[in-house]
Amino acid sequence: MLMRSFFLYLARSRTARNVLMRLPGAQRMARRFVAGETLAQGIEAVRTLNAKGLLATLDHLGENVVTETDAARAMQDYLDLLDAIERSGVNTTVSLKLTQLGLDISFEVCLNNMCCILERAAHYDNFVQIDMESSAYTERTLRLYRVLRDQHGFRNVGVVIQAYLYRSFEDVRALAEEGANIRLCKGAYKEPPQVAFPNKRDVDANFVKLAEHFLSPEARARGAYIGVATHDDKMIEAVKNYAAAQGIPKDRFEFQMLYGVRGAAQQALVAEGYKVRVYVPYGTEWYPYFMRRLAERPANVWFILRNFFRN
Ligand SMILES: Cc1cc2nc3c(=O)[nH]c(=O)nc-3n(C[C@H](O)[C@H](O)[C@H](O)COP(=O)(O)OP(=O)(O)OC[C@H]3O[C@@H](n4cnc5c(N)ncnc54)[C@H](O)[C@@H]3O)c2cc1C
Repeated sequence: MLMRSFFLYLARSRTARNVLMRLPGAQRMARRFVAGETLAQGIEAVRTLNAKGLLATLDHLGENVVTETDAARAMQDYLDLLDAIERSGVNTTVSLKLTQLGLDISFEVCLNNMCCILERAAHYDNFVQIDMESSAYTERTLRLYRVLRDQHGFRNVGVVIQAYLYRSFEDVRALAEEGANIRLCKGAYKEPPQVAFPNKRDVDANFVKLAEHFLSPEARARGAYIGVATHDDKMIEAVKNYAAAQGIPKDRFEFQMLYGVRGAAQQALVAEGYKVRVYVPYGTEWYPYFMRRLAERPANVWFILRNFFRN
């Protein structure tokens, strides 16, 4: 718990970022979870995953931009990414964060950037998943998602729900009725007990409850689709068992995991006939993403340090 708080603090600290990103070998350590700094490296990582029967979603790393110029640049990077996916023929969707596209500047700036990205994605018949950031953004993220879908008519967009938030059951209920495409994860940010379950046991129980609700016959009848994003065998087993008991075909939902995490488990699920999508981040802004991964699992810290010194 202490380690988690420490790394989540580092993820947010600009000073720590300036120091740690300059450490010799820091970038090499981050490569455990990040496909590389360039678009070409992201595409190559996806190609390798596809060859193993895995689907992917590419994330051009970045968050919390503060100028319209940076938000427009991030938007252009995503257009380039969608073009490159189409040219290369790899099988991948796209994931992004709204604060990378200007949500901290204004709702309208972010909305305009998202419309450009979704138009390009629709042109290629591709799909965009909106990552969920800290609870300060949950309401605005869901609102923007619904404006894109209901007012602008985009059907190629989905959103993420975090099982650690108390509000998520109500969100899932509404999204299931709306026939949404969601990714369900536990949640990666530091949240106060006023908004999120402090105990892992409660988060896990809520995760299963939310997944089952989204897989219910009523939700599926409305076209709801879920990406079950976890590395936790207990969550995976619970979802498999529920799906088998309900007779839900294996291609009617998917499992999702992060690049560099539990590769053997990803392959085992594919061998069992499940769809598995790997979240592949790339880009120079890897610092906060890398810190959140270290926060999730202290064993990762030792693993990375051991490999670093061995090399
Ligand atoms: C595809 C994907 C997209 C995500 N998108 C978001 C998002 O938009 N917003 C957000 O807040 N969070 C996101 N997350 C992160 C998520 O919220 C969790 O922080 C992260 O997945 C860790 O939770 P867990 O479900 O894997 O289980 P945990 O409770 O962290 O771990 C449970 C068990 O899983 C196994 N495990 C976990 N990690 C590892 C590892 N590195 N190596 C080996 N075994 C491991 C271990 O057995 C561990 O005991 C995403 C995660 C995934 C997989």
